[in-house]
Amino acid sequence: MKRINVTEPFLPPFEEYVDYMKGIWERNWLTNQGPLVQELEQKLQAYHGLTMPVHCVANGSLGLQIALKALGIKGEVITTPFSYVATTACPIWEGCTVKFADIEPDTLTIDPKAVEATITSQTEAILATHVFGNPCDCEALEAITNKHGLALIFDAAHAFGVTFNGKSVLGYGDASMVSLHATKLFHTVEGGFIVSKDAAVSEKMEWMRRFGHKGQDEFHGVGMNAKLSEFHAAMGLCNLNHIDEILEKRKVICDAYDKALPSHQSSAINYQLSSIVYRKGASRNYAYYPVLFQSESELLDAIVRFEANGIYPSRYFYPSLNRLTKSFKMQSRELALSENVASRILCLPLAASIDDVGVERVVRQLKRY
Ligand SMILES: *Cc1c(COP(=O)(O)O)cnc(C)c1O
Repeated sequence: MKRINVTEPFLPPFEEYVDYMKGIWERNWLTNQGPLVQELEQKLQAYHGLTMPVHCVANGSLGLQIALKALGIKGEVITTPFSYVATTACPIWEGCTVKFADIEPDTLTIDPKAVEATITSQTEAILATHVFGNPCDCEALEAITNKHGLALIFDAAHAFGVTFNGKSVLGYGDASMVSLHATKLFHTVEGGFIVSKDAAVSEKMEWMRRFGHKGQDEFHGVGMNAKLSEFHAAMGLCNLNHIDEILEKRKVICDAYDKALPSHQSSAINYQLSSIVYRKGASRNYAYYPVLFQSESELLDAIVRFEANGIYPSRYFYPSLNRLTKSFKMQSRELALSENVASRILCLPLAASIDDVGVERVVRQLKRY
């Protein structure tokens, strides 16, 4: 039985990557803002319909750290407990103090009302995740950060290509980071990009990722090394040529799962298995396919059954990040909604490489509910 994993990286045809390698060999320009990185930045900017520049970085986590640094955030950051661990670790790594605010139980994004209730005189920024590519309540968060004079940063690691109210979701807030890691929808093996519509912040991001260089021997300030290499950019350029096909394949799989979910088939109130709520006005990028069970024990039973059939879904995201307070040496705080969701959510296999037979095997399991 062929193993079906929660995700599989997309690989372009080998020859297409080799073609880019020939150019790299001819130029012998391997990193330091080479022509392929520049081309990728332009194409990502155009793809997202942005007017602000796109700054590629070595990975999304460094991108988040640079965004915090460029915005001058050093103190208290309010963030979501329902995300990947990097959303919490990056501000802590930057010396910030992290406070959690609970999530909306249907969209799973941070709840603006909970955010406002968590703000203190020490708060400097909100760091919110468009989790599973589902946009946060961006307008409400912007209203809060404007009212309190705070920075608004989006962890848009999952939000490649997502539009909200007809425009790229990356246009909201003061800065956004998209991850281009191998497991993401669109990738450069390792990589990411950051944007800010504030020209001064954007300029800082640009030099902070490459040691602060202002020409050869002058410096804008303290920088670090978060450069994307030409080899990574080449993977991005190859994959970008296949993005429509990747999205179409993922959509077909999601449509099949949608149809198989009991909540789509019956009018019973208590579904054993249900989908999350995608925010109105948002496009779906099919980055993940999360389903909610009614309880953790049902989820654990389901995992056993999936695995017995060679299917390996993943508990994204578990545990709720406020439960990691011991590792992070933070004060713990109960967050009922995020902890509840984290205990009973499962991401189903979703990758362009899963064939019809694979999809049918997952669907057969879903139909048991
Ligand atoms: C993947 C991910 C990151 C980290 O991105 P990297 O490119 O792997 O460093 C941050 N936040 C979220 C929500 C992620 O899923």
